[in-house]
Amino acid sequence: MDDPQSDPEALFRLLPSVDELLRGSGLSALLEKYPRAVLVQAARSILGSVRKDITAGAHTQKSVLEVVYAMGDRVALEAQRSLSPTLVAVINATGVVLHTNLGRAPLSEAAIRTIVDVASGYSNLEFDLQSGTRGRRDRHAGPMLLRALGSIVGEPAEQIGERWDVAIVNNCAAATLLGLNSLAEGGEVLVSRGELVEIGGGFRIPEILKKAGVHLREVGTTNRTRLSDYAGAINANTRMILRVHQSNFRMQGFTERVELEDLVELGRSSGIFVFEDQGTGLMVSLDDLGVHGEPSLAESFRKAPDLITASGDKLLGGPQCGILLGKSAVVERVRSNPLFRALRVDKLTYAALEATLLSYMTHKEDEIPTVRMLRVPASELHRRCLAVRDAVATRNLEAIVVSTQSVIGGGTTAGSTLDSFAVSLRHELHTASALLAELRRQSPPLIARVQNDRVLLDLRAVPPAQDEVVIGIVRAVAPRVWKR
Ligand SMILES: *Cc1c(COP(=O)(O)O)cnc(C)c1O
Repeated sequence: MDDPQSDPEALFRLLPSVDELLRGSGLSALLEKYPRAVLVQAARSILGSVRKDITAGAHTQKSVLEVVYAMGDRVALEAQRSLSPTLVAVINATGVVLHTNLGRAPLSEAAIRTIVDVASGYSNLEFDLQSGTRGRRDRHAGPMLLRALGSIVGEPAEQIGERWDVAIVNNCAAATLLGLNSLAEGGEVLVSRGELVEIGGGFRIPEILKKAGVHLREVGTTNRTRLSDYAGAINANTRMILRVHQSNFRMQGFTERVELEDLVELGRSSGIFVFEDQGTGLMVSLDDLGVHGEPSLAESFRKAPDLITASGDKLLGGPQCGILLGKSAVVERVRSNPLFRALRVDKLTYAALEATLLSYMTHKEDEIPTVRMLRVPASELHRRCLAVRDAVATRNLEAIVVSTQSVIGGGTTAGSTLDSFAVSLRHELHTASALLAELRRQSPPLIARVQNDRVLLDLRAVPPAQDEVVIGIVRAVAPRVWKR
């Protein structure tokens, strides 16, 4: 390069060394706050990125000197960033109760207390307190689930316990994979063409079947599958009928689907397994919320297929996990599969799941945040929205309360919404997306949504105790947006 103004070698010589940087006035004070190694790493990272820009021809002498002048601040920020966890708590003002991107179900206070209790010291995770010898971790949570289901379907838990068993793995995708592999490896599995679905996050039924080592035999058509389609496809290689809950979409019009009890009957008479991927883990009906036709785990349980799988952190409202609920002999096959060991959960999951199930067993579902948020009356949301509106409205920031619809989310209850209210914000000078981004940059970040160029704060998934935090964030942001 002929221009001395942008000769890289000359520009590199303008950069300070790491030592020089740390001796500078801005950073030497920080050495008391942060370990030296953290600042050295931050300084190297910033210097490295400036060198890269110089090499790419993005700098002149003038711009490098400007960068050098501000470098102390950049290193301080980088050091701070490097010490901050990437996973932080946020406030969910999207109205989506089971927001997969925001961590799905928040845990109940009881679940958190149990986690703290079990995690703070030792536990009987794999220890039998009766005999004082080695126990099995996969015996936790199952009895509580069976008792909770027993109390819902009105059957004594002992009777259920004789015929049913439970195994817990990392998530429902793992449970489905494990169920297929344990019961049907090398054989054929019948699936309706209407149920060859993608659940989201890369979970596609045909691909899971392949990875589980089973052969997919499609039956019926996309919109209609009859019992005779299943019956006609059964051959000597058929091991299983898989039924998948169409969680995240709904078929309308000329459709037909076989009832689970008819599949169970067919499976029994043909000597093949019937496996339902129930998905949502819904325990109590949502009918009284106007959400109809959402099948529950208890309903599937009553119809008694050989195996049912469900997520722990969808409508059940517990920790992330996959529940395998099945006939005792079937779950025994699952347990003896080496994959089960690879997909097992930790003690914290068992702790939170047992506490969540206990709330169902004692009919105190309202202790579970997911259940509570789904059931909060619109009138209560309206009242809270009015209070937030009154606290944040200014001359520059218009705030009104609007009626809206919350979706339940998490790939559940497709097409259904809940009546809700939101505080709708519009800033005199700034776009809704600029305001939205600024809310997201706060601590804690406030996650909202934009509709018709206004920011909507739906309070359904905000714990009432955090309304004040929401108010504080909006107040802090409004003047800042104003200045930009
Ligand atoms: C959500 C869902 C899954 C995947 O569950 P994860 O817990 O997210 O792994 C599988 N099957 C069905 C039917 C689902 O609804």
